[in-house]
Amino acid sequence: MKNYIHKIKNADLKNYCSFKIGGKAQCIYFPENMQQIKFLINKLNKLKKQYLILGNGTNILFSDKKLKKAIICLKKFNFLQHFNDILICSAGAGLGQVNAYCAKHNLSGLEFSFGIPASVGGAVAMNAGAFGGEICEHLIEIVVCKDGEIYSRQLLKYSYRKGVLNPGEVLLLVKFKLKPCKNQKIIEKQQQFLQKRIQTQPVGEFCAGSVYKRQGQIIPAKLIDEWGLKGLKIGGAQISTKHAGFIVNLANAKQSDVLTLMQIIEWVAAKRGYCFEREIIIV
Ligand SMILES: Cc1cc2nc3c(=O)[nH]c(=O)nc-3n(C[C@H](O)[C@H](O)[C@H](O)COP(=O)(O)OP(=O)(O)OC[C@H]3O[C@@H](n4cnc5c(N)ncnc54)[C@H](O)[C@@H]3O)c2cc1C
Repeated sequence: MKNYIHKIKNADLKNYCSFKIGGKAQCIYFPENMQQIKFLINKLNKLKKQYLILGNGTNILFSDKKLKKAIICLKKFNFLQHFNDILICSAGAGLGQVNAYCAKHNLSGLEFSFGIPASVGGAVAMNAGAFGGEICEHLIEIVVCKDGEIYSRQLLKYSYRKGVLNPGEVLLLVKFKLKPCKNQKIIEKQQQFLQKRIQTQPVGEFCAGSVYKRQGQIIPAKLIDEWGLKGLKIGGAQISTKHAGFIVNLANAKQSDVLTLMQIIEWVAAKRGYCFEREIIIV
């Protein structure tokens, strides 16, 4: 086993999240395999040091203050493999990479996720979904690390934007059951979903996806738009003019700028009898 785990001390969190907001982290570790992840978690647990697992950082709003928790970034733990219609992915693989692999190997089912800028680990933790599809509905087994032990499980309960992980579990591997399909059809579907995304979302801007979860028929983005809040700016942050469910970092936004916009939205919502549930994770 390779013992050396790459780490960056005093790292700029801005560089590890799609919002491009955040202060420094004491240390970010980049383990490359399951043994290194297990070793690291055990070591941090022994030291009683709290840690945060980071995928692609596309659902996180970091504080501008120095983060005391250690960060374990799984980007370098990255592989894909398939046997017939079963696809095995490590948590650090990106969904773009997964979609390219599926197209190449004629595996259909995950096309809806083309364009979600997530890692597999983050997507399964959040049960990422779009256009009627959800990542967890294609899962048949996962391998996790918890309390220093690595084990697999098949009992996988999930719901809207709530993935299959239990508290304290770090996702290492997933097994998806997909369907054989002609490569051309898969690419066509992926492109259709991507085009819809480009038309409706601030793709390419600094953000962390939808700020609030849908609650049945209640669609926060639609209401925020109806209440005239689209385009509202605080400091460097703005409620997206393209999609009112997103907040974007226009220039050097601080966490407090985004939080103030969220407080305004939540206050206006409360006045009208709504209680929005936050989707983005505030660290
Ligand atoms: C432009 C844009 C568009 C988006 N569109 C969508 C969309 O259509 N649908 C949708 O659902 N989301 C969307 N998102 C939000 C985001 O991509 C998803 O929530 C995604 O699932 C987060 O994945 P990540 O790898 O970036 O996770 P991160 O942001 O790194 O982490 C998210 C959470 O998952 C935890 N986590 C990450 N990896 C693991 C692991 N291996 N084990 C345990 N916990 C883990 C983290 O600790 C954190 O709590 C969008 C975001 C952006 C910026």
